[in-house]
Amino acid sequence: MLNYALLKTGICYDVRMRYHAKIVTSPSDYTDPHPEDPRRIFRIYKILAENGLINDPSLCGAENIGNLMQKVPVREATDEEILEIHSKEHLDYIVSTSHMSRQDLVSATTKSDSVYFNNESYQSARLSCGGAIEICKAVVENQVKNGLAVVRPPGHHAEPDVPGGFCLFSNVAVAAKNILKNYPEKIKKILILDWDVHHGNGTQKSFWNDPNVLYISLHRYEDGKFYPATNFGGPDKVGDGAGEGFNVNIPWTKPGMGDSDYLYAFNQIVMPIGLEFNPDFVIISSGFDAAEGDMLGGCLVSPDGYSQMTYMLKSLAAGNLAVVLEGGYNLDSIAKSALAVTKILLGDAPGRISNTLPKSETIKTVRDIIKIQSRYWKSLLPGYGSINMGENTLKNYDYLHDALRGNQVRKYMSNYSLVNLPIIREKGSPSYNDQILCSADIHKKGTVVVIVHDSPEVWGSIDPVLGTLDNSQSIVVDGSPRFIEWAQKNDYGVLDINIPRSITGHNSDNYSVANGSQDTCLYVWDNYIQCFDATKIIFVGINEAYSGIVHLVGHRETREKVSACISFIGDCQLRSIVTIIDEYITDWYYHSSLVFTSRYHPCWDKSLNPKRPRRKFGRVIMADQCGSNRILEERFQEAVEFIEEALESESEESDSG
Ligand SMILES: [Zn+2]
Repeated sequence: MLNYALLKTGICYDVRMRYHAKIVTSPSDYTDPHPEDPRRIFRIYKILAENGLINDPSLCGAENIGNLMQKVPVREATDEEILEIHSKEHLDYIVSTSHMSRQDLVSATTKSDSVYFNNESYQSARLSCGGAIEICKAVVENQVKNGLAVVRPPGHHAEPDVPGGFCLFSNVAVAAKNILKNYPEKIKKILILDWDVHHGNGTQKSFWNDPNVLYISLHRYEDGKFYPATNFGGPDKVGDGAGEGFNVNIPWTKPGMGDSDYLYAFNQIVMPIGLEFNPDFVIISSGFDAAEGDMLGGCLVSPDGYSQMTYMLKSLAAGNLAVVLEGGYNLDSIAKSALAVTKILLGDAPGRISNTLPKSETIKTVRDIIKIQSRYWKSLLPGYGSINMGENTLKNYDYLHDALRGNQVRKYMSNYSLVNLPIIREKGSPSYNDQILCSADIHKKGTVVVIVHDSPEVWGSIDPVLGTLDNSQSIVVDGSPRFIEWAQKNDYGVLDINIPRSITGHNSDNYSVANGSQDTCLYVWDNYIQCFDATKIIFVGINEAYSGIVHLVGHRETREKVSACISFIGDCQLRSIVTIIDEYITDWYYHSSLVFTSRYHPCWDKSLNPKRPRRKFGRVIMADQCGSNRILEERFQEAVEFIEEALESESEESDSG
């Protein structure tokens, strides 16, 4: 028999919550009103009415609002309820604002962390908090199937002892705590999902030690620079004591996050953890400031994106779901977003999403969080043990890039008779072993090919449970032998320079492939190459290490000898030549170079770079493939023809000269 489907969706709305407003102290308060604007809740109520979800022509909060939704009366939260989360001092302070003088209110506003007060703030805050409690209660008691609390002021920044970020009482936290207290048989575990663009520091703090409330927040973080501008929203903040593992932060590293990013995080983290936690009740801390059009939030979630997320959360806790408004400051955006969410509550299907590809930053963020949270949640695979290398207790292990170089060296020595060329360093490391190899008679060769590369690529297959590399299904891809064989066929000398990605055993915070390559290329030029007999030098750069070549030809007078600089850089950052030597160097580099990039390299993104790459980057060419080794395979012939032409034209010049 149908049960859930026959119930209505509850809604809490009360015009008295519009009385909390910023006291006007300057003309700019009219022209540029405070973003936490009393009209916010009205606009949501209005759009629901305009779309026939509620029937209330007066828009004042009628008793009977039609067949789809049911009014859940709002009341003021009691002291007892508020004190479940907040301190007595906090409550007393908010109470005191109800009879402060105008001057005191203005000064309390100025002193606070992004909160304003008038004499009605206290009542609005009590109603907002009471509305959150009542909507949850109505769902738990099966008066409605689910519910929406259109309330303000918002709550999730209000900490137990201090208001903040437009929030006076921590509405959702107070509601969750009181539901757990009053329905101990029915509701033992609550999931709070906070998709407001800001981190809900107040909610997090309220349940920091509580294993019965799982708090998951998706928010802009940017190394703690985005509001509330602390590190409490960081990925490593997982709760403490009994609550350890019951706090999940999904902190974005940049603005512009959209549907694809949120859905990716939902599919990878929120839903696996949500299903494993298996809550009895779900509350959405529903700020709409990540919505498209919200200038404060700077993100791009569409109404369809919100509908998808609501749909997924509705699948938890047998549909026991309450949505409580938090932030959201573009009046059109919050109205459209709230409408989309409410339609899902009523039983509509979610809208379709056109773009489902997450940003690469999102994939990295999600991967980092899985590393941390897989300690607590078994459903987040691959598991934790094998992928957090820094914390293991192993004694015997090698870093893969060192092992790969070792293998490469053995191969080059036996197949191509290359020998080690020593380089003096202050401090040794396995990463510096056999860093440079060369033909035994390189000093006598007329033409020398210098190959500067990163560690070979591994195309790996990861064990989906353990997170280890499946060796039998993984391959090492190395493009250098194509050039070594070509050089040896032509009786050219070969110099092979390996640039490690990090230096094993060194505390190498300041090390990067780019500066490692610069230093090594300069050293090899100064100490070896310029002393050789060679009159023609060919540089081949593979991946990020190529930047050492560009640096070298910009900082040493190499033009006499260098015939061509060929690079296969995939998606690595373009490196420009500097005009330290003279102004003609840019022209020379442009004519002597080929820089093959992936077709997805940002330099081809017309929205970022309307013009093609400048000449100072060399002759930049778009390959069909991605990844430097695939590109090398694709463009090898073209590169060789370019080099041969350069060598020939130089021979002609010297013949005629
Ligand atoms: Zn917010």
